[in-house]
Amino acid sequence: MHKHLFAIFGNPVSHSKSPLMHNLAFKGLGIGGCYTRYLLEDGGKLKEKFFALGLKGINITVPHKEHAYRACDVLDPFAQKVGAVNTIVEKSGKLYGYNTDAPGFLKAISEFRGAKKVLFLGAGGTAQSTSMILREAGYEVSILNRSEGRLVRFIEEGFECYTFENFQPQKFDLVINMTSAGLKDDALPCPGEILDVVIPSAKACIDVIYGKETPFLKLAKAHGKPTKDGADMLLYQGIIAFEYFTDHAYRFDEILPHMQKALLL
Ligand code: NDP
Repeated sequence: MHKHLFAIFGNPVSHSKSPLMHNLAFKGLGIGGCYTRYLLEDGGKLKEKFFALGLKGINITVPHKEHAYRACDVLDPFAQKVGAVNTIVEKSGKLYGYNTDAPGFLKAISEFRGAKKVLFLGAGGTAQSTSMILREAGYEVSILNRSEGRLVRFIEEGFECYTFENFQPQKFDLVINMTSAGLKDDALPCPGEILDVVIPSAKACIDVIYGKETPFLKLAKAHGKPTKDGADMLLYQGIIAFEYFTDHAYRFDEILPHMQKALLL
């Protein structure tokens, strides 16, 4: 492959593991690519900056995934459906957009075989794309969110939705924290009384946050439940993005051992 330049666009972006992940994969697979980070303050300038920097592809993180969606000339059907793009590849001067967060998450939870009923705690952008792909894969997804406002889109899409006030306790196979509660604080994603009802009957509890044990996962462990954090989701969305960057010249399993090293460093 010609030595192409890639980057992650976000604000903040200094914490991102993506440069390490992708550069280790380029090196390990003997590809002459290079991946950097770019602090994008104005999401409206995404396309302009992409071309000014001479990039071949980018990943997009908070808060620009909707700007990225709008900047694309061609959208993958799933990205089109969810309205959020986290991977862009330039081909013949056009920007092609994809969402790899959702398939990355779907793969990350595939180890919980037999799980069908899923409770999402949170209704933000990540919940939006992942709820769609889980439903397409046959899961029944219910959404519980702190505020009512963000549930509107989910209600329109036909998901069973609750706020803390009207939640109906029932048995869920997987309880998943899709909020940022616990990322920079010690907050639980919903009132403890609700968690004390849904966690005991769950098969496992999952968090999309990685790099720390959140209060939610601590509580799940205290209930003796298997837990999983967001590290595999991060890794798998990166591998799927890398497949797009290299036009599927490498298989998922070939990329995995190289990219995986970034999470251990
Ligand atoms: P958004 O800002 O779009 O949504 C945030 C959601 O969290 C909303 O539902 C919000 O509820 C809820 N929330 C925030 N704080 C609290 C709180 N203290 N108590 C209860 N609910 C709360 O975020 P994203 O969807 O973009 O990201 C969500 C999480 O996913 C982040 O932690 C992010 O780091 C993680 N993530 C992980 C990835 C990975 O690869 N592992 C990839 C992408 C994201 P309300 O509507 O009431 O405000």
